[in-house]
Amino acid sequence: MAERSVIVSIKNLRKTFGTVIAVDDVDLDIYAGEFLTLLGPSGSGKTTVLRMIAGFEIPDGGQVFLNGQDITNLAPYERDVNTVFQDYALFPHMNVITNIEYGLRVKGIEKSERRRRALEALEQVRLGGYAERKPHQLSGGQRQRVALARALVNRPAVLLLDEPLGALDLKLREQMQVELKELQREVGITFIFVTHDQEEALTMSDRIAVFNEGKIQQLDVPSKIYEQPQNEFVAGFVGVSNLITGTAAVEILGTSGIWTVRPEKILLNSYLDGQRKADGVIREIEYLGPTTRFIVELDQGIQLMALRQNTSETSQDVESLRGSRVLLSWDKKSEYQVHG
Ligand code: ATP
Repeated sequence: MAERSVIVSIKNLRKTFGTVIAVDDVDLDIYAGEFLTLLGPSGSGKTTVLRMIAGFEIPDGGQVFLNGQDITNLAPYERDVNTVFQDYALFPHMNVITNIEYGLRVKGIEKSERRRRALEALEQVRLGGYAERKPHQLSGGQRQRVALARALVNRPAVLLLDEPLGALDLKLREQMQVELKELQREVGITFIFVTHDQEEALTMSDRIAVFNEGKIQQLDVPSKIYEQPQNEFVAGFVGVSNLITGTAAVEILGTSGIWTVRPEKILLNSYLDGQRKADGVIREIEYLGPTTRFIVELDQGIQLMALRQNTSETSQDVESLRGSRVLLSWDKKSEYQVHG
């Protein structure tokens, strides 16, 4: 594989607001053409990192490099980056095409070239026929696409996206996730995407940086973040954490420490030789349509969640299992040690 080049490099980045340490000595290299997500709970510092890359916030310490150039102290408009915000920030009195052309007009690009590029960007976000509409005549999803087109038309080296799908309902959000990822592949621009939604991050990203308390807890590809969380925070924040600790770990796994196994890896009453096994009682059952979620209280006193595909079971079938004893089992390779 060809050596990947770093496009954005963050070194020892730090930002405090009064007594709050919003960003705590963060180092991060982002590769050209990648879709990198900053994922974390509210207040974990991800937006502040994005705003320091954009130039809307000046760091207290550390540096931001873009293509090797130190841009830490440049004004936002002097940086080859564009930001897409959750609230779109479209000009309400301008129609779609004028909104999209705006950045090019500011840069002094000549009118016909401006129009050509704006129409091309509008096609890219699949809004070909909407050039003359005003923002209030569009749906939320369409407005978000216009905001995207307005950023893309400038052909920035890096596009910064701050919870851009946050205002959309679930179905549209899922559709836009797929479209946004496709668009990113198509245009080849580096995307740095902020979200607190772990599913969104897992679906769209090439890599995810998981934030908590101003620090990166783990930086990795989605499958590693999900399957091999580095610490208890990541295990709990991304997916459902089934933690096996204390005497339960010693009795079931034959070792101490903190271990995690994901719910979909756990089987009910299907033990095979060589697997882990643990007995317990089904305390809760949630029928979710395609799957059912079981909360099982083990004899060792801890609770594990198991997720099972509903291949032929009805909701009545699964409900009847409440309170019954069950044998849980999983492959040893499905468990992973996490750090406190
Ligand atoms: P959210 O998803 O809620 O936007 P976040 O992970 O993006 O959260 P930040 O917005 O980066 O978090 O905020 C990190 C911390 O810095 C929080 O404690 C926040 O209250 C604080 N903070 C951010 N901006 C400011 C500001 N302008 N003034 C004071 N405190 C701020």
